[in-house]
Parts: sequence; C-alpha cells; structure tokens
Amino acid sequence: MTDAVEFYEPRTIADAVAILASVPDARCLAGGQTLVAGMNMGSAFRPPALVSLQGIAELAEITQRADGVIVVGAMATHEAVARSQLFRGGCEVVREAAGRIAHPAIRTRGTMGGSICHADPAADYPGDG
Ligand SMILES: Cc1cc2nc3c(=O)[nH]c(=O)nc-3n(C[C@H](O)[C@H](O)[C@H](O)COP(=O)(O)OP(=O)(O)OC[C@H]3O[C@@H](n4cnc5c(N)ncnc54)[C@H](O)[C@@H]3O)c2cc1C
Repeated sequence: MTDAVEFYEPRTIADAVAILASVPDARCLAGGQTLVAGMNMGSAFRPPALVSLQGIAELAEITQRADGVIVVGAMATHEAVARSQLFRGGCEVVREAAGRIAHPAIRTRGTMGGSICHADPAADYPGDG
C-alpha cells in the first residue's frame, strides 16, 4: 500500500509560495524527471504534498534584460535552453550543456530549475557550464 500524495497546481508564483509556506513538507514538482522517477523507485524522499509549477507560464520564460543579463525561468526546459538563440555568442556553453542532457524525452520535460535544485554535482550544467 502506498501513502497518498496531495497535489497542488497553482497558476501564479504567489499562490505557489503560499502553498509551500502553509503545507508542511510540500515539495516543488518541476519536470518530475528526477523526483517522480525517484519516488517510483522508492529511492527518494516521498513528500506528502507536491506543488506542480507546470501551470505557471512565466516560470518557463527565457528573456534578456536591457543590460544583457539572460534570465532563465526555473521551469525553462533543457530543450528550450538548448534551442534559445539568446545563449549564442558569450554563453554558448550553457546551450551546449542543455543539449547534451540525456535524451529528447528527458530534455522536453526536465528543467534548469529542477536540475539546479536537485544539485547533482555530476549533472551537465555544473559540469559543462
Ligand atoms: C534517465 C535520466 C537521464 C538523465 N540524464 C541526465 C544527464 O545526462 N545530465 C543531466 O544533467 N541530468 C540528467 N538527468 C536529470 C534531468 O536533467 C532532470 O530533468 C533534472 O535533474 C531535474 O529536473 P526536473 O525539472 O525533472 O526536476 P524534478 O524532478 O521535478 O525536481 C528535482 C528536485 O528539485 C526540486 N525542485 C524543482 N524545481 C524547484 C524549484 N523551482 N524550487 C525549489 N525546488 C525545486 C524538487 O522538489 C526535487 O527535489 C537525467 C534524468 C533521467 C531520469
């Protein structure tokens, strides 16, 4: 028998933060490529509540500020980073690292925010970037 997991789908960052602040031990769900795979294998902490960030459109954006700084939203997928023209030139290595991660299915769901928060030292972003 498995324990039930509460599932939240906020549409704004403010709502996501409010849920995370009020539900004990709730965890963000980004692309799920590490978290859900780990939960299914029984090798990861099984949070009592998941807060999906998939419905917060602004978190998927990759933009460039007037001062040239590239801002990558936490939910930008590896595929979106690999395809972004903003990294061409000075930040090419970031785009190349994203394009080397796993295979297309993982890159289409997995996110830069999820990879950074998971903080695997063997991941491509810290290793290549
Ligand atoms: C078969 C396979 C092969 C892979 N190969 C590679 C590879 O070659 N190179 C590589 O670098 N990676 C690889 N990965 C990992 C992949 O890049 C994952 O996408 C990534 O590690 C996690 O991203 P995610 O969006 O799926 O995050 P999730 O699995 O949803 O979340 C990962 C963790 O981060 C937390 N989290 C996510 N987003 C946030 C947030 N915004 N704020 C706070 N906490 C957050 C979650 O609660 C969870 O603890 C592979 C994964 C699989 C399953």
